[in-house]
Amino acid sequence: MEKIKMTTPLVEMDGDEMTRVIWKMIKDELIEPYVDLKTEYYDLGLEYRNETNDQVTIDSAEATKKYGVAVKCATITPNAARVEEYKLKEMWKSPNGTIRAILDGTVFRAPIIVKGITPFIPTWTKPITIARHAYGDIYKNTELKVPAGSKAELVVTDKDGNETRALIHDFKSSDGIIQGVHNIDESIKSFARSCLSYALDTKQDIWFAAKDTISKTYDHRFKDIFAEVYEAEYKDKFNEAGIEYFYTLIDDAVARIIRSNGGVIWACKNYDGDVMSDMVATAYGSLGLMTSVLVSPDGIYEYEAAHGTVQRHYYKWLKGEKTSTNPVATIFAWSGALRKRGELDNIPDLCTYADKLEKATIDTIESGIMTGDMAALSNLENKKSVYSEEFLAAIAKNLGELMA
Ligand code: NAP
Ligand code: MG
Repeated sequence: MEKIKMTTPLVEMDGDEMTRVIWKMIKDELIEPYVDLKTEYYDLGLEYRNETNDQVTIDSAEATKKYGVAVKCATITPNAARVEEYKLKEMWKSPNGTIRAILDGTVFRAPIIVKGITPFIPTWTKPITIARHAYGDIYKNTELKVPAGSKAELVVTDKDGNETRALIHDFKSSDGIIQGVHNIDESIKSFARSCLSYALDTKQDIWFAAKDTISKTYDHRFKDIFAEVYEAEYKDKFNEAGIEYFYTLIDDAVARIIRSNGGVIWACKNYDGDVMSDMVATAYGSLGLMTSVLVSPDGIYEYEAAHGTVQRHYYKWLKGEKTSTNPVATIFAWSGALRKRGELDNIPDLCTYADKLEKATIDTIESGIMTGDMAALSNLENKKSVYSEEFLAAIAKNLGELMA
């Protein structure tokens, strides 16, 4: 059989620990037998990031801007222990943070749904995709403790030196606390564009929620910017696609999401997205089944798994032990990226291959063969927990049949 040819390179960002091991297995066994893989390879493994003073991370993001699609392996975000372990020159920043800052993107997380693994909310039969605004609010705050007898005010000094003041609180008799937060229109606009474009791309309804009834200027600005961007740039396209955008209060969104069947994108402010993405991920089950894609407002895509490098498994693997690490979210990062490359370059065979790779993976799990994390959740009677190697071999066999 002739391998599927690619025209534009896919940006490949390799990573760390157990996911780096799995990465190679996926390429060797599931992709390269069928696709004449054309990637521009960047080694984001911590050793090479350290060797290049993290320049490789910046280069990989620039390449993504140039080519439009990337696939990324999980990477270590260094902390003090990692600086020691890898003898780092510096505590390098999170690669995901660096890449996101360069692409100005929004992260969309969605679970992979398989028969036999029922979410804690069983009516969630379709994935709920959470989009989190990753700029500002409490994540870039300024906070102070305030002693009794003090008065706290907001002061804005404009470019001519004029001051506008507003009282926060007069701390007459009790000590207290204050917090200053901000956001910027440009960032909110980018977020709105990424969200609305991704909804169009995936043909799903999208909700945005905030607390504008209480926060009449701050949250209301978010609501207004979403409405402006929607009306001016997306309304007609949404009508054509038969999908819906609506704004609602965050409380109402929570109530609606619980009662929904999924199949929607829920755009969240930074803090809501932080909390709700963990809640939704937990409700759907395994981290190994959670996908993640970074989408820039101008339509650049970077696919990855939502989980980390699975460090504990890696240390076992280093000792020569076999592990039952779930490769599914990483497989879907590859299939997502290859499908997107196929769409952009008009290579239908590449899109079909991506569909079959996903089907082979889901069929394998639904036939009862799965890694330990999934077996712990599955209610299939014939379920069997296997090592990563055996799981990948079973997928490869199914894929071979689908591709024949
Ligand atoms: P993690 O790698 O996601 O793993 C946490 C635990 O979740 C694992 O120990 C494992 O539980 C379970 N798990 C996660 N993915 C799994 C999979 N594919 N198959 C089976 N079990 C899975 O998070 P972490 O241990 O907090 O972080 C490890 C490293 O990853 C850190 O250096 C962190 O900086 C990095 N990280 C990177 C990214 C990214 O690149 N996007 C995201 C998060 C974290 P059991 O041990 O109980 O089996
Ligand atoms: Mg969180």
